[in-house]
Amino acid sequence: MKALTVVPLTKDSARLDEVAEPPESDGPVLVQTLAVGICGTDIEILSGGYGWAPPGRDRLILGHESIGKVLEAPDGCGVAKDDLVVGIVRRPDPVPCANCAVDEWDFCRNGLYTERGIKEHDGYLSERYRIQPKFVVKVDPDLGLLGVLLEPTSVVAKAWEEVDRIGGRAHWDPKTAVITGAGPIGLLAALLGVQRGIDVHVIDRMTSGLKPDLVAAIGATYHTGSIADAVEGGPDVVMECTGVDSLVLDAMQHVGIGGVVCLTGVSSGGHSISIDGGTLNRNMVLENEAIVGSVNANRRHYEAAAEALAKADDKWLARLVSRRVPLDSWQDALDRKPDDVKVVIEVTPS
Ligand code: BGC
Repeated sequence: MKALTVVPLTKDSARLDEVAEPPESDGPVLVQTLAVGICGTDIEILSGGYGWAPPGRDRLILGHESIGKVLEAPDGCGVAKDDLVVGIVRRPDPVPCANCAVDEWDFCRNGLYTERGIKEHDGYLSERYRIQPKFVVKVDPDLGLLGVLLEPTSVVAKAWEEVDRIGGRAHWDPKTAVITGAGPIGLLAALLGVQRGIDVHVIDRMTSGLKPDLVAAIGATYHTGSIADAVEGGPDVVMECTGVDSLVLDAMQHVGIGGVVCLTGVSSGGHSISIDGGTLNRNMVLENEAIVGSVNANRRHYEAAAEALAKADDKWLARLVSRRVPLDSWQDALDRKPDDVKVVIEVTPS
């Protein structure tokens, strides 16, 4: 079968390969991949900055944002032939650590977890894959290919859960949120904020085009300035979705009193800016502010994400998937265009 493979930490090593059928050891559920989304992590792997091949191998099958159709599944395992499904990305570490032992693998404590398409386990960018029932999530059949948005939505569902749990240390009824970045993660974070009844403000650089339109279409407000300009007095929540250091600092400095800053962007590093750490600390202490980093998602978050997508307007979700590229032209998916939001590779032509 065809698969897009890469040699991790080696720039420009990606190629469309002919590989063996998925190993039975990956699980009894056989899935036909319909489409795979491309995200910042994939771009980093493709540019040689991230990723790990499976033990004893040079090449890794890429792809962790997927939507597929079940071809075979054991009776009573929770999914059945023809169901539309998404594969969970992370697998618990084998020790397991205290969190992986209770299926909170997104909080793995020893770093020995694996991630499909990212860390030591083949991903979903192949015509077929196999998976254990525990790691496959059913999506609303009406979503069709838009189910590819489930994985990025699971990441923001986890981030919102963290914000709510931390906010809940005192009376918590957030009224305003700022989302930095109107990429797929920022837009999905905004969607979940709006679904919670929060007044959501999204900050990005684009002055016109698809991103401002998508923000307005869910009833959120689009800005190109700073957090202080977007919400007077500072928002209750800042969801930082860019990883850009100046925006991370802006978030810490301008979240409202008692607010929560959630960092979801993975920065590349290697660039310094200077800050007045003392003033930042003083304000954070005197205002009981919290900063939390959030990565990955466990099954509970995928399920919350599936509910959020089922409630969302399909037409809006369809606009988020701004470009679909056939597998044979996979390179086109990597050339970023100004109005790209989520680009997907169609593994099975629709
Ligand atoms: C994925 C996460 C993963 C993270 C770090 C993200 O792109 O969505 O599931 O944990 O990369 O590898």
